[in-house]
Amino acid sequence: MNLTLHLTDNCNMDCSYCIREKCPKDMSEEVLLKACDLAFSKGQKAGLCFFGGEPLLKKDLIYKALDYCDELSKKTGKKFECKMTTNGTLLDEQFIMRAKKAKMGIGLSFDGTAQDVCRIFVGGKPTSAVVEEKAKMLLKHMPDSLALATIAPQAVPYYAESVKYLHDLGFKKISVVIAYGRKVNWTDADLDILRGQLELTAAYVKELFIKKESYFVSPMCVKITDCIRGMNSAERCHLGVRQMPVTPAGKLYPCTSFIGDDDYLLGDVFNGINDAKVIEISKRAATPETCVGCDLVKRCTNSCGCSNRMNTGDENKVSPLQCTYERMLIEVADALGEELYQIDPERFAKMFA
Ligand code: SF4
Ligand code: SF4
Repeated sequence: MNLTLHLTDNCNMDCSYCIREKCPKDMSEEVLLKACDLAFSKGQKAGLCFFGGEPLLKKDLIYKALDYCDELSKKTGKKFECKMTTNGTLLDEQFIMRAKKAKMGIGLSFDGTAQDVCRIFVGGKPTSAVVEEKAKMLLKHMPDSLALATIAPQAVPYYAESVKYLHDLGFKKISVVIAYGRKVNWTDADLDILRGQLELTAAYVKELFIKKESYFVSPMCVKITDCIRGMNSAERCHLGVRQMPVTPAGKLYPCTSFIGDDDYLLGDVFNGINDAKVIEISKRAATPETCVGCDLVKRCTNSCGCSNRMNTGDENKVSPLQCTYERMLIEVADALGEELYQIDPERFAKMFA
């Protein structure tokens, strides 16, 4: 099974849109090893995602988990996969080489040219120069690493140029999400700018496609892929039993935004998962009332209980912001997909089918 390990609640950065409450609470080695055992206890393979706060503050725990999971993998014959989301500031060659050996998928949180608008060190210093240098180091050894950009309203004019900048740095795949939560406030004017920035981004993807270069910009390209493959985004995941978070104390919840809510506690690494509770929570999933009858209901992420909960307080209620964003994203993605198909149907199929 797949688990997301919150190795620490602490972070060396102080991003303006961060939704985590930072406090120096670290996972113990005992919880870590129990979590590894749990990951290997169910399913055909074991997966760990190292997460925080900032997981590289606890590099020692990551090294221990990798060594221990290698042993468990040999003992059980089960495949082990791992990934990590990091702000990148504490990356070094030694860690990257160990991560490479473990075939770790690394997601580098990097907002491109918008980085210093929202992402600063604790104490206020800018982070862009440090993260750019670390991104180059990472890409030198692990060129398939993913850039993860989060665009808040105050950084939205930088959206398209950030997408281009991250490609120029060497990323082949990026994921750009908009910032949600109580610390951000999107106005209609910001959403107008966002629409223009999505169109500029689509134009850049098209420009590269014409030059026979591919650059996978999620979620725009994912909307095209899902449409071609006939996948239903709404069926993807309601609450993340597929990737359960483990808190530093070893508690298990369905998804990050439910951490700390006893009504959603699914067990702990010492006593295992409460299967009856998992079933009860999965039964709470319902199509949001406002989405019933919408033409886009199968192409929209209205079913993400975690983001719904964060935005509206209710796992089955979509925020007006999410609805507006999904509509513009699908419209821009569909127009882009149509253009790319007309340019070169074969390459289009190769990239998206
Ligand atoms: S790097 Fe991540 S955990 Fe740290 S402050 Fe920024 S958003 Fe929060
Ligand atoms: S576009 Fe809006 S109404 Fe339609 S499915 Fe998505 S969130 Fe619901």
